[in-house]
Amino acid sequence: MMLKRCKACNIYTLKEQCPSCGRPTSNPRPARFSPEDPYGAYRRKLKLEVQR
Ligand SMILES: [Zn+2]
Repeated sequence: MMLKRCKACNIYTLKEQCPSCGRPTSNPRPARFSPEDPYGAYRRKLKLEVQR
């Protein structure tokens, strides 16, 4: 199951288009290094250190 997100409405949907505004939705986690998630790598590092 791939949840997609409308950036404009900040809602999640399974559809390619936002049911609210009709904009094309996007994958909230499109890549390992996303410009939308600049601290992703840092958080993953932190999580690993916590689990140790
Ligand atoms: Zn929308």
